[in-house]
Amino acid sequence: MDSPASTSFDAIVVGTGPGGASVARELARAGSRVLILEQGGAAPLSGTLQQMASMAAVPGRAAFIHRDASLLVSGATLGGSSAVNFATAAPPPPALFAACGIDLAPALASLRAELPMAPLPDRLVGPMAARIAGAALAAGLDWRRLDKMIRPQICRSGCWRCVYGCPFGAKWTARDLVEEAVRHGAQLAARRRVTRVLLEGGRARGVELVRDGRVETVRAPLVVLAGGGIGSPRILHQSGLAPRHAPFFSDPVVAVMGSVDEDLGGAEVPMAAGVHLEEDSVALADLTLPRPMYQAFAAQVGRFDRLFAHARTLSVMVKIRDEIGGRIGPRWADKRLAPSDREKLRKGVELARGVLARAGARHVFSTWHFAAHPGGSVRIGAGVDADLETKAAGLYVCDASVIPQPWGLPPTLTLLCLGTRLGRHLATRG
Ligand SMILES: Cc1cc2nc3c(=O)[nH]c(=O)nc-3n(C[C@H](O)[C@H](O)[C@H](O)COP(=O)(O)OP(=O)(O)OC[C@H]3O[C@@H](n4cnc5c(N)ncnc54)[C@H](O)[C@@H]3O)c2cc1C
Repeated sequence: MDSPASTSFDAIVVGTGPGGASVARELARAGSRVLILEQGGAAPLSGTLQQMASMAAVPGRAAFIHRDASLLVSGATLGGSSAVNFATAAPPPPALFAACGIDLAPALASLRAELPMAPLPDRLVGPMAARIAGAALAAGLDWRRLDKMIRPQICRSGCWRCVYGCPFGAKWTARDLVEEAVRHGAQLAARRRVTRVLLEGGRARGVELVRDGRVETVRAPLVVLAGGGIGSPRILHQSGLAPRHAPFFSDPVVAVMGSVDEDLGGAEVPMAAGVHLEEDSVALADLTLPRPMYQAFAAQVGRFDRLFAHARTLSVMVKIRDEIGGRIGPRWADKRLAPSDREKLRKGVELARGVLARAGARHVFSTWHFAAHPGGSVRIGAGVDADLETKAAGLYVCDASVIPQPWGLPPTLTLLCLGTRLGRHLATRG
């Protein structure tokens, strides 16, 4: 919408990723007058490389090149990173949240009953994922199909568009919850970048935002920041509520790639199956990427000889739980691997190489590390309390930034649980 029809709101939610969309939906369902603000656009997903780049390759907002040349990506668009993610679901670790006095079981049960979340049926597991799974099992790894937030009845085999933004409605995104919030009366205003929270007497009273280069303010007694692991700490700092720099985790990833003799297509759902080695803080999964992304990764490490081998290249993702460190600044974010992070990656890459060798792959190489899970920058117990409230009354944070410890898991389902729990808490609080 161009301009909010109403100027009187009970709550403002900033950001439309899984955290923000789920809070907004619960509040709107309970009858609150909710304004949802999103800095990105709301154009329908077209599944094109061009649109993906416009959502995820926005320097300083969605894409960050660290000083070690590694890339951190996210989505600045309606639905946040869920619009471009790999659709893998993992439940929140109960002990981690129990230690903070938080029980996510009720929210998890209702989300499981509602959202698509299951392993892919055989017909949607691509030939590359199947070949990798066979090799991983032969290598003795407990390689299992992962839960995917995908509607199998709509999803197409031979398609590579999950990460471009599924144009078929097969992949669940947080856009679904925003739409539901809007059906319950919430107002969505896209292309609004919130710059700070308005505070009076230590209480949140609304937000300041930039729209088409103009500064505006909107008032409400309740503000939920859900700008993601990088967006929210920045807004808190601009509001005088947090230091200039915030450390964070990002769950760095390396893709280990190797070519086989057969043409296996190179077009399939990524992360169909994998293994989580909890004690090693390492997770592995198949990771078939669209050709342009594969070529960019190969070129980045100088493997120009592999540029045209995409349809024959098996790719195994190695993701680690990294230490909290580095710094999010006002216009940049920078994080380097700690020695312990390097050791985890080394172990994971060794395992991935073993899997690829069993799969008959040759010309094996590893990409430079990249990351897509910024979080832990406004942690529960430090930046917010167990109700996700900041030190300013009426101001909450609900996104990956509140995750209290190093992570290493797909965050989406956890954030949906946190948002559902917070929305219900705020709705019953009155
Ligand atoms: C390529 C890729 C693959 C991934 N794969 C998976 C996966 O398989 N499974 C999984 O669980 N997770 C995956 N993730 C990560 C997951 O999508 C994110 O962790 C999750 O979306 C984070 O949710 P969030 O609520 O923290 O906010 P985000 O999704 O980061 O959304 C925040 C939103 O807030 C907006 N915003 C920020 N600042 C402002 C501001 N100042 N004013 C207004 N709006 C603002 C942003 O534009 C954005 O839309 C992946 C991510 C990427 C990039």
